[in-house]
Amino acid sequence: MLRFFPIVLLASAALAQSDVPQKLIARAESSTAMIDDLRELCDTIGGRATGSPACERATGWGAAKFRAAGVTNVRLEPYTIPRTWLPGTISVEATAPARFTIRAAAAPTSPSTAAPIEAPLIDVGDGSAEAFAKAAARLKGAIVLVHSGEMKTLDDLFAEYMRSPGISAAAKKYGAAAVLLESSRPRGLLYRHPILLGTGLAPVPNAVISREHAGRLARLAERGPVRVRFAMSNRIGGPYRAANVVAEIPGTDKANEIVVLGAHLDSWELGTGAEDNGVNAAAVIDAARAFVQLGVHPRRTVRFVLFTGEEQGMLGSAAYVAQHQAEMGNHAMMLTFDTGSGHTTGFFLNGREELRNPLDAILRAAGVTGASEHVADAIDGTDNFDFLLSGVPNLVANQDAAPYLPDYHAESDTFERVNVKEAQRNNALAEVLVCGFADAPDRPAPRQSREEVEKLIRDTKLEEQMRVFDQWDDFASGRRGWPKH
Ligand SMILES: [Zn+2]
Repeated sequence: MLRFFPIVLLASAALAQSDVPQKLIARAESSTAMIDDLRELCDTIGGRATGSPACERATGWGAAKFRAAGVTNVRLEPYTIPRTWLPGTISVEATAPARFTIRAAAAPTSPSTAAPIEAPLIDVGDGSAEAFAKAAARLKGAIVLVHSGEMKTLDDLFAEYMRSPGISAAAKKYGAAAVLLESSRPRGLLYRHPILLGTGLAPVPNAVISREHAGRLARLAERGPVRVRFAMSNRIGGPYRAANVVAEIPGTDKANEIVVLGAHLDSWELGTGAEDNGVNAAAVIDAARAFVQLGVHPRRTVRFVLFTGEEQGMLGSAAYVAQHQAEMGNHAMMLTFDTGSGHTTGFFLNGREELRNPLDAILRAAGVTGASEHVADAIDGTDNFDFLLSGVPNLVANQDAAPYLPDYHAESDTFERVNVKEAQRNNALAEVLVCGFADAPDRPAPRQSREEVEKLIRDTKLEEQMRVFDQWDDFASGRRGWPKH
């Protein structure tokens, strides 16, 4: 093999200027390998919450796919999460004035009900502090019903996340027994809605109930007393040994520098995690396969990572960053996609305007159009975040969220939701960018110091969100992201 090495070096001296990007694009847009993998992942393994046997099967599956693609250094990188949360059984039913079964899904991080609760249902409207205060006298021992607007945009979804810890805390404060949250999606659709991110437990049992059942309960409660019976048994355990899947294409003359292409492999399990985020996990595997098939050997090492624990608050990528702390300074770029097969219009620069030019230069050289509407905003919500906190340049694809949102974490996030053409284009974009960043003469931007990261967090107003997502204390104390010196 060694005798081929100089040839590889010559060929790789300027991959971006060669026909390699075009070859990657042509392959990505015509190959069905990624979609075949996705179908297998979704239909034979299915939903894969971290801590479940399905997630373990998925990590083994991912490693086997990398090996079959001929990639080197394939490994599982185990890490420990302090607690697991998996759904068990749930039963919600109205018992008076009418008896009917209520469609419900346990909310992740929710404790079980110690015993079945049968209690008056109190409607607390939108669950604001004022609404709780107004109902205070009736809340002791009650099951509270909280209404939700219909989720139409990412901002709506974000607002749903931001309000949940407060609702649960208010329920606890007023002595309520449990919370029923109205589904933000019509027509009976249920989804997993984490009350907290991280590994803590919500203070009271929470479940999402169908929008139509919430409406019926509310109308009944306007007329008189309503009683509900609620029993839920979640499987709460830990500590648990989870694992990320890592594979590499070693670099040539800058092999000690690393470009990461990552996506999360875990998912919630009501559906089969196709759009969130099986399609992009399959793309990471297929990018590795493409590099091997086309003999692409960039100057820097490309590391393909399938993270787990993402749905619990990016625990897998946090563990990766902690475990690779000694080589974080060698990480030149981290790139991720996490909005299903939504059309990519550009990238989130994650607070780093200086990434715009190198990014555009690669897209231009590859002849890519329609993906240059970059956004300076910083994303705290997927696996880029611990890289951001460590000062590593990182990009998240800015994708059309409209097709993705209705099925987010829901029963309906299944293989048929995936837009094959867009998924193939996203895969092509990922491959071209990874190849470009890994082969460029210079890094796109230097690693930021801790002080610069702190400034970025201030400038992009991330602190409030980090507090809600239970990340702030860990960053402030140096347990997460850049260590404190
Ligand atoms: Zn996701």
